Amino acid sequence: MTKDIATPKRTKEILQKHKFSFKKSLGQNFLIDTNVLRNIVAAANITKETSAIEVGPGIGALTEQIAKQAGSVTALEIDQRLLPILNDTLSPYPHVRVIHKDVLQADLHTLINEEIKKKDDLVVVANLPYYVTTPILMKLLEEKLPLRAIVVMIQKEVAERIAAKPNSKDYGSLSIACQYYAKAETVLTVPKTVFVPQPNVDSAVLRLTIRDEPPVSVKDEAFFFRIIRASFTQRRKTLLNNLVHHFDAKKEKEQVVALCEQAGIDPKRRGESLSMEEFAKLSDVFVERYGNE
Ligand code: SAM
Repeated sequence: MTKDIATPKRTKEILQKHKFSFKKSLGQNFLIDTNVLRNIVAAANITKETSAIEVGPGIGALTEQIAKQAGSVTALEIDQRLLPILNDTLSPYPHVRVIHKDVLQADLHTLINEEIKKKDDLVVVANLPYYVTTPILMKLLEEKLPLRAIVVMIQKEVAERIAAKPNSKDYGSLSIACQYYAKAETVLTVPKTVFVPQPNVDSAVLRLTIRDEPPVSVKDEAFFFRIIRASFTQRRKTLLNNLVHHFDAKKEKEQVVALCEQAGIDPKRRGESLSMEEFAKLSDVFVERYGNE
């Protein structure tokens, strides 16, 4: 039996055999620690009933560990040079399918419908390229794919921002955007030494358990997210200042104050102190006046 891909020795052999050189611009930091990989897979609660989607399989280190547990794995890789390597390293796993695609360009609904037979328990598991972590996560969440969970290795700092609660320095529009769609938790932090080449930042494994329904219901989802972003434009400023600036409402300051009060929120508070429920109330009041501006 061949050894796991994710050991320093085997990874080096694979890279040398295929004369592979890392592309920093594609966020290529490969995992070389089998224990960390097993922990990622365990955090996703994968069984033979699970169909997994992986973003960026690299040389297959994580793919292999997912494949050992899952019913199928569909992996999307942007770097064409990795396809023959994956064909080689993943040959013992016939239930793995590698597709040459940029995940940000992919039509994921069609891909899931056409490529994945069993859709009852669908998860995304990945060691994400750090340069595009947020766009990838937001795409996976906003497109409302039929996923149970997303378990990803990302920059520790980004994981902390996503899982943050109100009144903390990490809490912001990204926390609320992600927590609207999913329950967010950091399940593991890992040192730089488990990657080759080593990244400059520490990493963490984030688990997003997708909600059946958002925790708040709002009149206009797009406006809800707009008012959240506006409220965090300048973190140190009050809600009132940020909202007046955003809606270009200097002359209507009194009205902005009145709308905040109508929503039951003191306009002197800062965005970072508002819960998702409070943003929902604010949004439903403001949308009536500023929804078309
Ligand atoms: N899964 C492997 C591992 O854990 O060792 C590699 C992870 S590495 C951090 C990120 C991988 O994502 C690389 O293989 C890179 O080529 C790929 N990648 C980068 N941007 C991508 C994109 N937009 N779509 C799909 N794959 C991408």
